[in-house]
Amino acid sequence: MSEQLAVNGGPKTRTDPFPSVGNSTGRMFGEEEKRLLGEVIDSGCLNRVGGTKTPAFEEGFAKAYGVVHAVASSSGTAALHVAVGGLNLEPGDEVVTTTITDMGTIIAVLWCQAVPIFADVDPLTGCISAETIETVLSEKTKAVIPVHLFGQPCDMDPIMDLAKRRDLRVIEDCAQAHFAQYKGRMVGTMGDIGAFSFQQSKQLTTGDGGMCITDDDDLQDRMRLFSDKGWPRVNDGRRGHLFLGINYRMTELQAAVGLAQLAKLDTIISRRRATAGKLAKAMESIKGLNPPKQLADIDHSWWIFCFTIDEEILDVSLDDFAKAISAEGMPFSKGYIPNPVFEYPVVADQLTFGTSGWPYTTDAARQNISHDRKDYPGTIWALGHWFITNWNEGYTDADVDDIVEGLTKVAASFAR
Ligand SMILES: *Cc1c(COP(=O)(O)O)cnc(C)c1O
Repeated sequence: MSEQLAVNGGPKTRTDPFPSVGNSTGRMFGEEEKRLLGEVIDSGCLNRVGGTKTPAFEEGFAKAYGVVHAVASSSGTAALHVAVGGLNLEPGDEVVTTTITDMGTIIAVLWCQAVPIFADVDPLTGCISAETIETVLSEKTKAVIPVHLFGQPCDMDPIMDLAKRRDLRVIEDCAQAHFAQYKGRMVGTMGDIGAFSFQQSKQLTTGDGGMCITDDDDLQDRMRLFSDKGWPRVNDGRRGHLFLGINYRMTELQAAVGLAQLAKLDTIISRRRATAGKLAKAMESIKGLNPPKQLADIDHSWWIFCFTIDEEILDVSLDDFAKAISAEGMPFSKGYIPNPVFEYPVVADQLTFGTSGWPYTTDAARQNISHDRKDYPGTIWALGHWFITNWNEGYTDADVDDIVEGLTKVAASFAR
């Protein structure tokens, strides 16, 4: 255990790169993707209107989640915009969400002229809860967007109870949590709508892409119209463009890859669970490290593996610990997003539509909404203390063994 750390000139634990979601080492693309893409090219139709792959992908996706409807779109941000658009909120209505997420969650709310309001997160899971949501509700709150962060579901039962009591709609942001389960239920099936991303790094990817799922016929009708310029396309007696929509149609090329990936999703998730689960278990015996906090009765789907260190046991600054594990060739870095999302200029300085500050400045909105770091202790602690890496289906048991070796070496050298 007295082996010298790589950061001090000692031997590096791991010299080969770990598998990455950015290339083929951490992704499962193969002949099936090529075959389905070839069918699309041969058909001559790359557009979902007249195509067959996008409807088939929607049908397969809905079936995989056990829901009635799925509506495909061009990105995760688009899917969230379609979901919020599906609710048809009034300008100035408030949507409660989290301080730690991809900006797509917030962008979707603002483009609908609704106001995002932020609930604090559990410092270890990074998820919002019924308690933190309840403290920021107002008479203007109409919806909640819980984000199942890193692949772990939020504690949904209390959130759904609160939503029922306060008559709020719930959009689950499942962009990072494909196939994750909460008490035996799939994410995306507990709220009114589940929204997914197929961006390059997500468990199921089409490069970019998105999907909304719902059991509600009216929501699916509105979401489908919203994502296709409000155009019903069928001659059902309704006039042309029924309301303000947008073109977020998925292409047949995306859907071809999506169909092939969907068929592999069980394998993708079980590989992630096997290797990330092995690492989480091993971390329990590394003195000074805290494995990822997992709620009881959930099944994590491991978009990101996140751990923290025990500063009472390890005599090292967080930055120096990060440097030491990185020098050993470990895939982890400190932090996730640089600030709580309410500190980004789009929210903090209301840089939205021209210089208007809409929707914050409209008469319809509650005035003087601001967010102060002191009200977000969980968020601030989390963003300063997490060590994370993107997990993927390319990880092997041997990779996990190397990570355990490297982290054990570093932790042991800093143990008080
Ligand atoms: C990735 C992501 C999005 C946005 O998805 P894009 O496909 O990148 O637009 C939204 N929410 C969360 C939580 C995400 O991780």
